[in-house]
Parts: sequence; structure tokens; C-alpha cells
Amino acid sequence: MALIVQKYGGTSVGSTERILAIAERIVRCRNEGNQVIVVVSAMGGETNRLAGLGNEISANPAAREMDVLLASGEQVSVALLSMALADLGCPGRSFLANQIRIFTDGNHQRARIQNIETEALDAAVAEGVVPVIAGFQGTDSTGSLTTLGRGGSDTTAVAIAVAMKADECQICTDVDGVYSADPRIVEDAKRLSSVTFEEMLELASLGSKILHPRSVEFAGKYNVALRVLSSFEDGPGTLITTETPTMEQPIVSGIAYARDEAKITMSGVPDIPGVASKILGPVGRTATEVDMIVQNTGADGLTDFTFTVKRQDFESTLKLLEPVRQSLGARELSGDNKIAKVSVVGVGMRSHAGVATRLFDALADENINIQMISTSEIRISVVVAERYLELAVRAIHDEFDLASSGTQPDT
Ligand code: ADP
Ligand code: ASP
Ligand code: MG
Repeated sequence: MALIVQKYGGTSVGSTERILAIAERIVRCRNEGNQVIVVVSAMGGETNRLAGLGNEISANPAAREMDVLLASGEQVSVALLSMALADLGCPGRSFLANQIRIFTDGNHQRARIQNIETEALDAAVAEGVVPVIAGFQGTDSTGSLTTLGRGGSDTTAVAIAVAMKADECQICTDVDGVYSADPRIVEDAKRLSSVTFEEMLELASLGSKILHPRSVEFAGKYNVALRVLSSFEDGPGTLITTETPTMEQPIVSGIAYARDEAKITMSGVPDIPGVASKILGPVGRTATEVDMIVQNTGADGLTDFTFTVKRQDFESTLKLLEPVRQSLGARELSGDNKIAKVSVVGVGMRSHAGVATRLFDALADENINIQMISTSEIRISVVVAERYLELAVRAIHDEFDLASSGTQPDT
């Protein structure tokens, strides 16, 4: 008997009809002879609605209370799904994080799972019960509720699969697998039958919403069989794998994008040792994530220093740096919060030169200006004006012919 963890995302449990359909799908999987543990997200749009309420009440809501608020969405869906299972004669039982004891650190809204106790789940599974677990939430050492960051129920599912030594973790969602690019933007994007952990981690970290980055990290570390599937139709989905594909590896496997970026430039900064740390030190101390960094050596002993942050941190970072600008005697502090990052990822890049040039040419042909560039062994990222984002993704998709070469035979 295989033990399968199935995670259902927001769209999949977005209405009572859909919850009833998911309950039937779970029962089918069980009738095929599997033991099933289910992890669910809040109903689609609910977490955004709750966040909106918190932000209406307060300009600066406490992160602890935001977590209590946001985590309530998952409480609703586990109860509804358990009821639907019971009506189908399948003993489902809802579990919140503190009932299982999913321990995290105390970093509200971006907590990391540290340990999961398995007693309650072992007992439920032994009784023949289908545990229905609230994703996205945890509990810290003081008993406070925490959440894992947006999209975090994927990580709950993988962590539960690790703790329960499941045979497979299935991320069931509104697309039937991982595609060569977001199918909402690129019409002819191709489903990948498999993708390596390394590539998937890059894609997820670079903005591809399909999997929460921590879930891929966990699955890679503990070697969990991880599959992305449709909640609505049968199919093989995409297997995230450690194996190197047998067919010739495409140079580029996928394209990811992130809209929520902003760029900050301090110009006319004296070009002396220690400047980068004077600028980025205070930013880092506020736990703001700095992504790309570019320093241009200018004339007259002056330099321009540019870096990107998440858009939500744009205003606060500008405010924080104004006194730094004054103390450094820099000429100007400016910013642009209408930028986006587009990235191409592929382990095939290791063995192929010239990928960057092809990407730059494809963007130039569309008259898209590249504002910043960063690369790693298996990735190239560029910053462009947000209004060109979709055009850029499509142009790159065409350039690397991902509509036809994107997939391998199903395994
Ligand atoms: P869920 O609510 O099930 O967690 P998400 O909205 O978090 O679903 O993730 C699924 C969405 O991810 C898809 O609807 C799709 O628009 C988006 N997406 C972005 N990049 C990709 C990609 N490369 N392949 C498939 N889906 C992608
Ligand atoms: N409900 C949470 C969110 O919308 C967690 C998740 O969907 O994975 O971010
Ligand atoms: Mg998601």
C-alpha cells in the first residue's frame, strides 16, 4: 500500500462544488489501494481577502496577528473537505498545525518548519482515517500561530511527506504540470514531463508560482518523489527528479518571471572602499531581501550603485537610505518600482555557450531595453520595464523554441 500526500491549492478548493469534486478524487485514490494524507490551502482568493482586511484595519498590523488572521482561511477548507469526505463514507479528519504540532521558528509570515510530530497522524492513518491538514500554518515554541509565506502550503505538504515517509507527494493544482513558461502568459507553453530539482528550485525562487521554493528545497534535500498534477483531470503531470534526462537535454528548460520587483539607485557616490556595505548594511539589517546589485565605476571618482528589492520594500528602503545618501555625500537617490525580472533556467546551459547573447538579441529585436543582468551556471536573469514583461517572456520562449522542445517523453 502506497502512502501518498496530496496537496490541493486554492483554485482546487475554491468553491463548495470543487471541494465535493476533490473529495471524490481523494476517495478514488484511496479505493485504488493507497493511503492518503491531504493538505489543503484556503479557498482561492481567501488569503488575499483576509490580508486586505488586516491592512484596512491597520497601516502597520502586527505580524503575529496577521498570522492568526491569514491562517484562518485554511481552517475553513479543512473542515469543509472533511465533511465532504464523511458524506462519501470516507473518514476524513481535519488537523490544524497545533493539533499535529508542526513546529516552526518564530518568524511570522515567513516561518520555517523545524520539526513535525507524527503521533497524531500515525494514529489516524492506522485507524484508516484520511487526515486533512491545514497547509501554510505552523506553531512556534511559544504556541503562537505562524505562517510559512504566501504559497506555503506546498511546503507543508512536502514536509508532511518527509515526516511520514510517504511514497509520493502530489501537488494538485489548476494546471496539469510544470510548463516551459506560465501558460497564462505563453499560449504555446509546453508541459515538462520531468524537471530536475536544481532547475525547479531556480524556477520557483525566480518567481514561478507553481511551487513554493522551500517545498522544492525540502523535497530535494530529503529526496521526496514530488509530482505536480491537475486537480481536475487525470494525467502524468510533471515529476521533479534528481535524474539527468536520457534524451538530449534542452538548453533552456523554463522561463520564470517576477513582477513584484523594484530598483533603487544611489548615484554620484564617492568611489571608495566600504561604500557597498554602507549602503546595503542598513538595508540588510531590516531583513529586506536584496537581489541584483550593480555598481558602475563612473568618472571623477564617483560611482552609481543600483540594486533591486521586492516592491513591497521599495518605499521603506528609499526612506531608510536618504540619511545614508546625505552622510555619504551622494548626489541622488532614485528608484523605479515598475520593473520586472525575467529569468531563463536550464541545466543544459552548462554545456552551451552563447545562451545569453541569444536572449539579449531576442529582447533587442522587440526593442526591449535590459536594465540589469545577473547570471549563474544554470540561469540568466534580466530586469526590464514591467510593461514589456509578457512580450519579453514570449520572445524568449520563441527564441529557444520551447513550444516544441520543451518536453521529454512521459515517465
Ligand atoms: P495553487 O493555488 O494550486 O497553489 P498557484 O496559483 O500557486 O496554484 O500555482 C499555479 C499557477 O502557477 C498556475 O495557474 C500558473 O498560472 C502559474 N505558473 C507560473 N509559472 C508556471 C509554470 N512554469 N508552469 C505551470 N504553471 C505556472
Ligand atoms: N493560502 C495561502 C496563500 O494563498 C497558502 C497557499 O495557498 O499555499 O498564500
Ligand atoms: Mg500555490
